[in-house]
Amino acid sequence: MDWKVILSQKGYRLSEPRKRVIELLETAEVALSPQQIHQNLQQKDCDIGLVSVYRTLDLLTKLELVTLVYDLQHNPGYMLSTTGHHHHIVCQECHKALEFSGSDDIDQLVERVEAETSFQVRDHFLQLFGLCPDCQLNNDTGDQL
Ligand SMILES: [Zn+2]
Ligand SMILES: [Zn+2]
Repeated sequence: MDWKVILSQKGYRLSEPRKRVIELLETAEVALSPQQIHQNLQQKDCDIGLVSVYRTLDLLTKLELVTLVYDLQHNPGYMLSTTGHHHHIVCQECHKALEFSGSDDIDQLVERVEAETSFQVRDHFLQLFGLCPDCQLNNDTGDQL
């Protein structure tokens, strides 16, 4: 995904906060909270205010360039998004987050919920938690010791 192209196609300038926030998220393997993004940028001598970080994240969310991913305590964080319908799986040990594709993934569940509640389901947010391959290995050696 070329976010620079998407920003300009939608008529948005590549301002310093937008550029720095996206560049940071591009290299992150874990979802980052607005506070973490702010601190991280300050450590890199980038003087962008927290309000500006929030505003930037709002815009990037609206443009679907970033996605909300929740941590283990269900606090919101942000990751760069790819196009298409997808969800995230988050490691409970190292907090690494990966995207996985979804399509008719929860059709059966939606049908059951509609039957039970008489709601018409229009959207969903699904996120899974588990142990990544690296942390599974670490856990195994821990057991043997
Ligand atoms: Zn892990
Ligand atoms: Zn889905």
